Amino acid sequence: MTKKIKKLRKQKWAAQKGRCYYCGQLMWEHDADAFQREHGVTRGLTQKFQCTAEHLTARSEGGGDVDDNIVAACLFCNRTRHAAKKPLDPRRYRRRVQARLEKGGWLRLNGL
Ligand SMILES: [Zn+2]
Repeated sequence: MTKKIKKLRKQKWAAQKGRCYYCGQLMWEHDADAFQREHGVTRGLTQKFQCTAEHLTARSEGGGDVDDNIVAACLFCNRTRHAAKKPLDPRRYRRRVQARLEKGGWLRLNGL
């Protein structure tokens, strides 16, 4: 990861108050142990809530490492979006994630 992306991720993390752009749940940046203790969850679940830099338009599709193309997203939402053959555009994906969360069909950090 380049310094530029790290810096952007940090900025977005702060702007989003530590919450994932897609699912809105809390993420951790550096201290997995503290996060795990704080939320009383397994290590496996903790790993999925690591903060990542998400490219709204993928690099492979010409999206740059620039401010308006980077958001902070949890590893789970990030990976799940890009695991699709045809990833949904960010707005539609966010709506889908939120709808699934409401119905209990998405990864949850806790009871929310
Ligand atoms: Zn998420």
